Formats: sequence, structure tokens, C-alpha cells
Amino acid sequence: PRRNLPWVQFYKCVTIGDEAVGKSCLLLRFMGKKFRPELDPTIGMEADQRIISIDDKPTKFQIWDPAGEESRMFCTSRGLYRGAAAAILVYDITRRETFDHIGRWLKEAEELAPPNLTTILVGNKCDLSHERAVSYEEGQEFAEKHGLIFMESSAKTNQNVEEAFFTAARTVSKKS
Ligand code: GDP
Repeated sequence: PRRNLPWVQFYKCVTIGDEAVGKSCLLLRFMGKKFRPELDPTIGMEADQRIISIDDKPTKFQIWDPAGEESRMFCTSRGLYRGAAAAILVYDITRRETFDHIGRWLKEAEELAPPNLTTILVGNKCDLSHERAVSYEEGQEFAEKHGLIFMESSAKTNQNVEEAFFTAARTVSKKS
């Protein structure tokens, strides 16, 4: 069957982080859909995939986004992380507590995800720099300390959205 073509690489990626940091909006952007200013908190899990080219190889990049209840709790289901190669760990640069919780998200991912998970730390909503509660340097420092790749993004202005997901896919590809 077509969907199992052997030359298509397949990577699973999960988006994690506190509620309302912008995970769904980042995913929508990456999938080429419009930014939704008033996104209803959805229930359950959303997954979407996009075929991207990594080192000239067609790659099926599937992203799982736990929505609603699931993203509110730290103890996310094992199923979310099963088979995941990458995680986009998101905080909101305007809400300090979402940055303070990063360590707990990392711990959960370490416990539940397969070893060698590629994690990209993303400080989202950088369009709201006038309301900033976490400096760029703090994000960078945390990432360095924990061996994560770091960037700031905005799902609203589409800044660094492609970069975050493509960096995740490229890093996974290099490891495999
Ligand atoms: P999730 O719970 O982490 O999936 O967060 P959502 O994607 O549902 O976003 C939560 C809220 O933040 C929504 O009202 C979005 O419109 C808003 N939002 C998401 N990303 C950005 C961004 O980059 N900039 C701004 N200004 N708002 C954003």
C-alpha cells in the first residue's frame, strides 16, 4: 500500500508544555493553516502530518498535540510519547510559570519517551515582547544546561515556526 512506501522516513514528534502556551497554534502554522486568534481548548489529542524533505529524503513528519485536559496535567499518557523521536517543548515568554514548569515536562518526557529524544525548547509568543516575563538569555541558558536546542517563536507572526519543526526533524535524521 502507498502509505507504507519503504523509502519514506517516518518520524513522530510531540508538542508538550503548559496549557495555552500556543502548541496548537504552532502546529496549525506548521501545517500551513491560518493562525486562530481565539482557539477553543479542544479535547483529546490532535495529530497531523506533513511530508517534508530532509537531506533530499521524503520524510513523513507526524506531530501529536495533546489538547485540553491532557495538556493541563504533567502526567500525560504513555501513548503520547510512544515511538516519539522528537518533542517540541513550549513555554509562553509572557507567563513565567510556564517557564518554571519546563523542568517537570522534561522529566516526564525522560520517563515516558524512548531514549535519545530530540527536544527543542521553544519560547513562544515572542511577538508580545512588551509583556515579556522570561528573557531570551534565560531560555538559552536553560537549554544549554539540559542539552536542548533553543529558539523563540511566534505562531502569530509565523516567526521560527518552520525552523522549530524542521530543526527537530533534521536533528532526528542526523541521529538515525
Ligand atoms: P495550547 O493550549 O498550548 O495548544 O495553546 P493554543 O495554541 O490553544 O493557544 C493559546 C492562546 O494563545 C490562544 O488564544 C492563541 O491565540 C494564543 N497564541 C498562541 N500562539 C501565540 C503567539 O505566538 N502570539 C500571540 N500573541 N498569541 C498566541
